Amino acid sequence: MPFLGQDWRSPGEQWVRTSEGWERLQLWRLKLFENLNENVLARLLKLTAVEDLIKQKEIKANRSQPHIVVTNRMSREKNFQISLSEALTRLDMCGAIKDIRRFNYVCKLLEFLVKRKFTNLSGAAQKAVLTLTELLVNNVMKTNNHLSTAQKLLKELIITLERGYYDHVGGSLLWHKHQHMAECLQNKLNNLELKERMDDGKIQMSDLPDDCIREILLRLNNHQDLVNTGLTEVRTFQLVQEKQFWHNLCIFHFTNEQWSSVLKRDECIDTLPWPLLYKRLVKRYGLRDVFAEMLHLCKHCNTLYWKDHGHPCFLPDLDPKSIPISPVMCVELFTG
Ligand SMILES: [Zn+2]
Repeated sequence: MPFLGQDWRSPGEQWVRTSEGWERLQLWRLKLFENLNENVLARLLKLTAVEDLIKQKEIKANRSQPHIVVTNRMSREKNFQISLSEALTRLDMCGAIKDIRRFNYVCKLLEFLVKRKFTNLSGAAQKAVLTLTELLVNNVMKTNNHLSTAQKLLKELIITLERGYYDHVGGSLLWHKHQHMAECLQNKLNNLELKERMDDGKIQMSDLPDDCIREILLRLNNHQDLVNTGLTEVRTFQLVQEKQFWHNLCIFHFTNEQWSSVLKRDECIDTLPWPLLYKRLVKRYGLRDVFAEMLHLCKHCNTLYWKDHGHPCFLPDLDPKSIPISPVMCVELFTG
């Protein structure tokens, strides 16, 4: 039974027993509400084929503004800290996994948590991370996208669970549960069969002219996607060999100083093949993280929020001023 502290700053929290253990009532309501909303919405959309209504519901669903006011931890009166599990719920990380623009951000956040923080997290936070990982795998199973990302994350999770077996916060029963869950998720992914698109008579990539394919290839932001696309067809393979794609990747991910730093004494940029330069740069510096959507911290009211969703600012009359928060910074805010 959780301890209900009688503190002068707060009368203590109310807790409820759920199938997954004790949960704070406030947080449990929030989760329940989110799930209910999603289910009700799905049922409504299924029942009606009226396009306008679907649009209305989508607009309504997008109106929610998940946010957290990050308080000054040094202030005595406001010295309540938001736990990581609560932050993940209130920042709508579950919804972000299903959102193509926020997916990469959550993946990076989970990767950092699993690699660097997992063994020191509280039991509730560990469960929250596992729940998000499960959701991510389910989303991959459903959409057949980002398979390698999910595989990489699960691999890291299994390594962390093995390494931290004798050195972790929480009981061994919970740790065994995590291991079991990670193995189940990995099996699930291993059994996933990617289905080819049925021949529906519509245009396929192979029907497009070279210029259109070039435009598509120019929008890929890493070499793996470029190489994999080249493996699909002989014509695309030949297009991928063109130097402009590798040149673009070098410009996108690296600076001129970085280019110069990987050149040998007798080499110059003009004579070195772009794929080779790119390979050296990736090896030394790694790829730049790219996020379509990020969490931002409002400078006026200290609110952490998703940029596209906005937030209810305390000072709406002032010009908006915010700084982007990387996944690592976000985790540090609630664990550091
Ligand atoms: Zn604000």
